[in-house]
Amino acid sequence: MSAITQRMYIGGRWVAAISGGTRQIINPFNQQVIAEVAEGGREDAKAAIAAARQAFDSGVWSGRPAAARGALLYRLAELIERDRETLAELESLDTGKTVEESRWDMDDIAGIFRYYAGLADKDGGDVIESPVPDSSSLVVREPVGVCGQISPWNYPLLQAAWKMAPALAAGCTVVMKPSEITPLTTIKVTELAIEAGFPDGVVNTVLGPGKSVGAEMAESPDVDLISFTGSMQTGKTIMRAASGNVKKIALELGGKNPNIIFADADLDTAVDYALNGVFFHAGQICSAGCRLMVEASIHDSFVARLKARMEKIRLGDGFAEGTQMGPLVSAEHRAKVEEYVRIAREEGARLELGGKRPEAPELKDGFFYLPTLFTECTNDMRIVQEEVFGPVITVEIFSSEEEVVRRANSTIYGLAAGFWTRDPDRIHRMSKGLRFGTVWANDFNVYFTQAPWGGYKQSGLGRELGRIGLDEYTEVKHIFQNHNPKPVNWFGV
Ligand code: NAD
Repeated sequence: MSAITQRMYIGGRWVAAISGGTRQIINPFNQQVIAEVAEGGREDAKAAIAAARQAFDSGVWSGRPAAARGALLYRLAELIERDRETLAELESLDTGKTVEESRWDMDDIAGIFRYYAGLADKDGGDVIESPVPDSSSLVVREPVGVCGQISPWNYPLLQAAWKMAPALAAGCTVVMKPSEITPLTTIKVTELAIEAGFPDGVVNTVLGPGKSVGAEMAESPDVDLISFTGSMQTGKTIMRAASGNVKKIALELGGKNPNIIFADADLDTAVDYALNGVFFHAGQICSAGCRLMVEASIHDSFVARLKARMEKIRLGDGFAEGTQMGPLVSAEHRAKVEEYVRIAREEGARLELGGKRPEAPELKDGFFYLPTLFTECTNDMRIVQEEVFGPVITVEIFSSEEEVVRRANSTIYGLAAGFWTRDPDRIHRMSKGLRFGTVWANDFNVYFTQAPWGGYKQSGLGRELGRIGLDEYTEVKHIFQNHNPKPVNWFGV
């Protein structure tokens, strides 16, 4: 992507912000400016919503046979695969994550478009056995309409794809707003959608801050559904804003995800996954297993092994061979992580490792933070209850299965949880007992397109991915036909 200002795509045209405003996009590894993009506001959001409304109401997309919509989504998946390397590089420049991780994301993203392309024409509706003589009863799914879609900075294009692909497959039109600090891959995929041949107004990409552009999308009476991935606080603001026209709401919010290690587990693998569960993308993962709960009898040896491996995590440039962990996304976000580390120490957690920025001179320009380990943590600590979203693990000790389930569930979040044991009966009990949208037995952080993703409690509302991820973008209509209507003669005869 060049130094030329990247624009927004509204109603089939690339446009600058109405205000003329722009924003510089910064590489978190070295703070260099990598692009300049339009910085839209409420008026730009209104224009994008109007374009999406017009396109939806015209039927140009919703009226197209579902198989034809699917064919365009297949085409977009092919183009994403063709430009995989460019997209992966852009994602890493924008977020700081290793380019290898970004390549995995791009493969997933192409797969998501392909999956929903395949589902687009698979729902034939249902015929209901009507209790009324000489009648027929059909239940069909129709597109919800204009969808506002707001994505976060940690997995910019992956989170956008989770929303765009099912919405487009269902026949909706879309206004997409990426995080203002990581918009580059969403802009690039918009270019690919144009190349694939989506009609004008079906895919609109608007850029700018959440407080203006995002808020307009959440409030607008012309938006039928708002789908949001981001923090719990913003999710609550969006819920309130969306009540104006009783929009459909889909929320993917934060998590505080326990990873529970029983003494009978395969400990070599459990240690490995305790690391995998947290340190990809420097812990900036909604489902990070940052809350380790370890059975008392193995606690000391488990922590020692974990610490030994954490000491060897290689920080660096996401583009350099051998880098295992990149920087945090921004100075503001690193300051938030630092504040949580300060709070944890104040609360009495024991700092075993990290707890500061690295001192290596080659990392001084990036927003780096060392892998950090706290032990002697307790349930009531803020560091255990609140989302840090950084490379920080807390360790708690437990003594019984009943106790660990109760404590793991004592959180306002409910996104994901994992546990490690060889006991099949315990696997059954734990899977039922943990109140989270995803539960992993002897694994952590595995997700795939075919299975639903979303949170219990304050981790969200609705589900993305899988068949249910398509249903979110549909309204259910019951069509009843009387084949032999006769007067009832009840009134006024
Ligand atoms: P954020 O809430 O700050 O911002 C997310 C998006 O919302 C951005 O595009 C932002 O511009 C927009 N926004 C901000 N204020 C808004 C408002 N008032 N109205 C409308 N839109 C607004 O979150 P973030 O810091 O970008 O992302 C990190 C958060 O996302 C973490 O809490 C993480 O757990 C969560 N997350 C959840 C999942 C999941 O699947 N559950 C996945 C990824 C990230």
